[in-house]
Amino acid sequence: MFEYAPAPESRDIVDIRPSYGLFINGEWVEPQGEERHKTINPATEEVLAEIGWASEADVDRAVQAARTAFTTWSALPGAERAKYIFRIARIIQERSRELAVLESLDNGKPIRESRDVDLPLVAAHFFYYAGWADKLAYAGLGVDPRPLGVAGQVIPWNFPLLMLAWKIAPALACGNTVVLKPAETTPLTALAFAEICRQADLPPGVVNIVTGAGATGAALVAHPGVDKVAFTGSTEVGRKIARTLAGTRKKLTLELGGKAANIVFEDAALDQAVEGIVNGIFFNQGHVCCAGSRLLVQESIAGDLLEALKRRLATLRLGDPLDKNTDIGAINSAAQLAKIRELSAAGESEGAERWSPPCPLPDRGFWFPPTVFTGVAQSHRIAREEIFGPVLSVLTFRTPAEAVEKANNTPYGLSAGVWTEKGSLMLWTASRLRAGVVWSNTFNRFDPASPFGGYKESGYGREGGRHGLEAYLDWNHR
Ligand code: NAD
Repeated sequence: MFEYAPAPESRDIVDIRPSYGLFINGEWVEPQGEERHKTINPATEEVLAEIGWASEADVDRAVQAARTAFTTWSALPGAERAKYIFRIARIIQERSRELAVLESLDNGKPIRESRDVDLPLVAAHFFYYAGWADKLAYAGLGVDPRPLGVAGQVIPWNFPLLMLAWKIAPALACGNTVVLKPAETTPLTALAFAEICRQADLPPGVVNIVTGAGATGAALVAHPGVDKVAFTGSTEVGRKIARTLAGTRKKLTLELGGKAANIVFEDAALDQAVEGIVNGIFFNQGHVCCAGSRLLVQESIAGDLLEALKRRLATLRLGDPLDKNTDIGAINSAAQLAKIRELSAAGESEGAERWSPPCPLPDRGFWFPPTVFTGVAQSHRIAREEIFGPVLSVLTFRTPAEAVEKANNTPYGLSAGVWTEKGSLMLWTASRLRAGVVWSNTFNRFDPASPFGGYKESGYGREGGRHGLEAYLDWNHR
């Protein structure tokens, strides 16, 4: 049996307190309610820390602090705000090794990903939006775009610090203040970020972090002192929030679920496509809203491609997230593991064929092996529902038109991939896909300058790039 051996030298570089309060008005404060929650390492089920649960009254305190801070923060010249945001970016870079370990401990993702993907992108977002803070008048959003006020931001657990960066960096650059609620299973890097705000001497109340579950998020988005709501999470909760906000003057952006098609045409460079498929669905254990969870492969190459894919999957290493050789880490929670198991069982009972490479799983923690389903029909649940785990559903097509029709046959529309050596076929296909992002001959590439967001049930509004500013500015006031 596989022996799970934590890497103590890496674990030692983080300093996790036994318990955390809320970060309001630049101070650590105790939540008013008694409720506390344990955040655990999903790879070992070890308790990492106790977290305070913010009540409605705590959310109210945080929003009041953000309202007060808004007056001075929004009046600062953009160049002054930029200095603070640059400082935050620099501190993130300086502390990136520690933050990467913290993220891997709380989330379960491999250190290679948190260190080489998440953290560099987090810093890049703060650098990028710091650069906009004094150029808003030149953003093409009117000569005098103004901040909206207090942003209430709710984020998920799959990229905890990166989702925080996507939300907080543009909000601050535009002169808004923030109350952010991290996901209940991954609060630690958001709480470390609170410390970074203090280190950067950010004025009190500009960023407030309230930890808690869905009820805390619901109290935040409904609070009358919040002017703008930014939510990333499930389509189901996104719908609830849209209903809560209907009839209010609050601005809303929703980044929700996905069921992306990764389309491989017969002329594609096969080895490159295999790498793209693996990265598309097994990166971050498939806990990725834009994961390439449906492989659409042209019938003529399906046999060869699947053989090459299976050979590659047999080389992936699953295990200790802190081991630099690990490709597949832990599933983030027992609840998420149960959901992946349930949908995989549905795949089998609906008649698809399930395959995983030989892959011993650790005794403790939450784990799921890389899994491929072939013989998948469009009507199967595993072809329609977001699994949010390391599970690939394979479908085939004969013609480009059929590929497009199948790719678009989903309630979602967040991302897609197209693999072909023919530029004309790539453009023909991409222009017909109803997806916010289309990658060609690559997958899961992100850049702070590129807008990201969905069509249909994947939400609305864009984060990233100049478009990301629109969500945080009142630019229709004239
Ligand atoms: P979730 O919707 O269950 O939770 C997301 C956040 O919302 C958490 O912080 C949660 O506490 C909070 N929440 C729950 N109920 C709430 C309510 N009624 N009001 C306000 N807040 C509430 O989603 P999750 O399981 O944490 O994350 C996975 C989902 O997020 C997937 O569907 C994934 O596709 C999506 N996601 C989308 C993007 C994107 O950019 N489109 C990025 C990452 C994740």
